[in-house]
Amino acid sequence: MKTNTFRYPKAMVEEFELPGEVVENAAAVWGARVHDLDKKAFLESNQEITDGRTDCHSVEYRAKNRKGEWVWMRCRGHLERDEAGEPTLFAGIITNLGKKNKIDHLTGLFNKFEFEEEIERLISTKPDQPIGIMILGMDEFKRINDLYNRSFGDEVIRITSQKIQTFLPPDATVYRMDGDEFGIILRNGTVHGLKNIYGKIYQAVNHQQEFNGKKFYCTLSAGCTLYPLDGRTYLDLIKYAGYSLEYAKNKGKNQIAFFSEEILIGKTRQLDLTELLRESVEQGFESFEVYYQLQVNADTRKIKGAEALARWKCEKYGQVPPDQFIPILEESGLIIPVGKWIFEQALGACARWIKEDPDFVISVNLSYVQLEDAGFIDFMEQAVLSSGVPPANVVVEMTESYIASNINRIEGIFDRIRSFGMKIAMDDFGTGYSSLGILKKIPADIVKIDRIFVKDVQTSHFDLTFIKFIVELCHDVGIEVCLEGVETEGEYEAVKPHDVDFIQGYLFGKPVPESTFEEQNFS
Ligand code: C2E
Ligand code: CA
Ligand code: CA
Repeated sequence: MKTNTFRYPKAMVEEFELPGEVVENAAAVWGARVHDLDKKAFLESNQEITDGRTDCHSVEYRAKNRKGEWVWMRCRGHLERDEAGEPTLFAGIITNLGKKNKIDHLTGLFNKFEFEEEIERLISTKPDQPIGIMILGMDEFKRINDLYNRSFGDEVIRITSQKIQTFLPPDATVYRMDGDEFGIILRNGTVHGLKNIYGKIYQAVNHQQEFNGKKFYCTLSAGCTLYPLDGRTYLDLIKYAGYSLEYAKNKGKNQIAFFSEEILIGKTRQLDLTELLRESVEQGFESFEVYYQLQVNADTRKIKGAEALARWKCEKYGQVPPDQFIPILEESGLIIPVGKWIFEQALGACARWIKEDPDFVISVNLSYVQLEDAGFIDFMEQAVLSSGVPPANVVVEMTESYIASNINRIEGIFDRIRSFGMKIAMDDFGTGYSSLGILKKIPADIVKIDRIFVKDVQTSHFDLTFIKFIVELCHDVGIEVCLEGVETEGEYEAVKPHDVDFIQGYLFGKPVPESTFEEQNFS
């Protein structure tokens, strides 16, 4: 103690990257690794010893290890004094309690370990008392991180956590779970009680918010389970709450869902399909097929090209619609191999068809997951080059909603695709709730107006005006327009005067297998 020299064990030197086993200015070196929130307790305990107020050191705190992770430490030490009462030797044990700390640093809330422990504790101590469990997930949190940056995202999490706390009744506690999720435990929980809590939180976040002069939207979805009704163990309850949250998000976000039989069946089917799809991919894309749907020039009704559309079937569920299996492929990452396979299939077919019709254009859908895969653009370029199809005969389709919510990131991708010579279509236009300004910010080569605007075109003045207006706007800036979903002559007659460039709809052809498409159009 007189020289302020400490000796640390080897394991500690390694884990915390100390200068060596013998450290001279130990308090400073070790103190620098202690978490800010715990420094006070740590320093106070040291000071007590130095001041001679106590000879026992007993404190718990977090320290940062060499990987930058916070590790909980428990220090127990004892001070020896000389005849004069001066401190001579301080010795003790530091126990590494691991990373299982209790408090989330960002929000100051208890973390998920405490959430789990509290539920386990309630179940074991008061098995007859119902518990309401809610997992709250921030809707499109990724978008906030992308829009600004991670530290702004962190602030949004903090602000949201405060809002949630404000509206909690005394018998409820909120916890920070992983990432953008919060957990709420409502003791004596009922459906009504949980709905009440959600209702207040909903009111608080369901509008534009502002922080540091930056505006943002961040609504919350909720998935709920009740003990003992839905499950009797922590693991079941948390799993079902997670399913319910996923369900709420899939239903359009910004809403609450309670666990139900329907949710369980849907999820079981989804897990089942995931496995079947995986098998199918492993077996060389067996059971996958690419169909082609004709696109025609709107005025001449002559062939313009085709959109490649994925199909998949299995013995158990038969033909599964792409609206169901594409999201599963996206979530599982399988869309990466499957998307490549579809792209190659489509190019292969196109290579043959352009021999008959050099202007034939093949359109392929790209999922957001593919666009976030760093190597995907390289792959596309390679595939196009080796297929022999001129890049100008290839259109990639991305949905308006994806483009709109990723404007910053997507610009570079657009530039690369364009400079290679391929074209970009903005798919499902009119359904993404983006402003028309998007056409100025991120100009596509083609805009595909969604078929919801065609459905009632013969009766809805709005729909017809919308189409007319978009066509005019696009043509003024050199964007071509494709109208999707024309099913009848009546619809065709209604839209024809408005000068759309291309039409894709059942009137001219349904999606069909490659060989059928070839027979129908090239023989
Ligand atoms: P999408 O890209 O908007 O594709 C057009 C959808 O509209 C196709 O549905 C097509 O069959 C349908 N359709 C076209 N004309 C008509 C019509 O006149 N009436 C009606 N009622 N429907 C019409 P499909 O094939 O079921 O595909 C649904 C969605 O699944 C696609 O919408 C696309 O988002 C996705 N998808 C399909 N294939 C792929 C793919 O290879 N990759 C990716 N990422 N997504 C795909
Ligand atoms: Ca499409
Ligand atoms: Ca579409």
